Amino acid sequence: MEKISLQKLKKSFATKLSNIYSETEAKPVFTWLIEHYFNATSTDLLMDKSLSVSADTLSKYQNALNRLKEGEPVQYILGYTEFYNCHIKVDNNVLIPRPETEVLVDWIVSDMDQLKPGKTLSILDLGTGSGCMAIVLAKHLNYPVKAIDISPEAIQLAKENANLNQVSVDFKTLDMNRLDDADDVPDILVSNPPYVLETEKNQMENKVVDYEPHLALFSKDPLYFYHLIFRYVQQHQKIRYVYLELNHLTADAVADLFRSIDHQVCTIRKDMRGNKRFLKWHR
Ligand code: GLN
Repeated sequence: MEKISLQKLKKSFATKLSNIYSETEAKPVFTWLIEHYFNATSTDLLMDKSLSVSADTLSKYQNALNRLKEGEPVQYILGYTEFYNCHIKVDNNVLIPRPETEVLVDWIVSDMDQLKPGKTLSILDLGTGSGCMAIVLAKHLNYPVKAIDISPEAIQLAKENANLNQVSVDFKTLDMNRLDDADDVPDILVSNPPYVLETEKNQMENKVVDYEPHLALFSKDPLYFYHLIFRYVQQHQKIRYVYLELNHLTADAVADLFRSIDHQVCTIRKDMRGNKRFLKWHR
């Protein structure tokens, strides 16, 4: 066992990773690491509680630090993240769930809470990745939820996440191109499809471009997946609600597409940075 001072550890963390994290970014990452590896809280850190740590644990922590220094996202190193109060496992086959996507989920949950109690609608999530949206919706709404993704590895992980969160979601490996094979048409369609443009790559953080799956991030044609979804909604009157995450650069074009369907309401919401990020459409 070795005795360590949390404050000293914090200083060496900040110095070692100064090229990766600013001071404000370093703080939550460090707190998360000490919680994960040493079972220490932020109060322990404030009080500079000295900890007895085994050599093995310390070397795991050092190893995490080395990976962080290479630029790897902390969520992949620890293997999980928190999303809308759910514990979600992640690996490099799936996108790390983003805080902005919690806004979309919250929109759906609060809309559905206002519907007549006892009403049951079915949900389909397209390009589910880790399953984060489908799982949170199943947990909060108690509706039947299905979700598809082109990646079998993602679907495998999404199934694990549903078990972990004790919800039932019908996950299936399926290309969005083959949407008609997804048997039942849902009442509510949700999706956070790949929407980042190749031209945006050089403005993105290295830890995103180098580590997260490009299959889940990039789309050569910025409207490709939105056109697929639009055609599916046009063909199936049963679909009454659509909730999408958008690229702010193409948000208006997607909204125009959905507004072209008769008798509908289409609303765009902005994210915390003030960019047009979400769309709700219903008929
Ligand atoms: N919001 C993510 C990012 O900017 C992208 C998500 C997506 O392509 N659906 O990294």
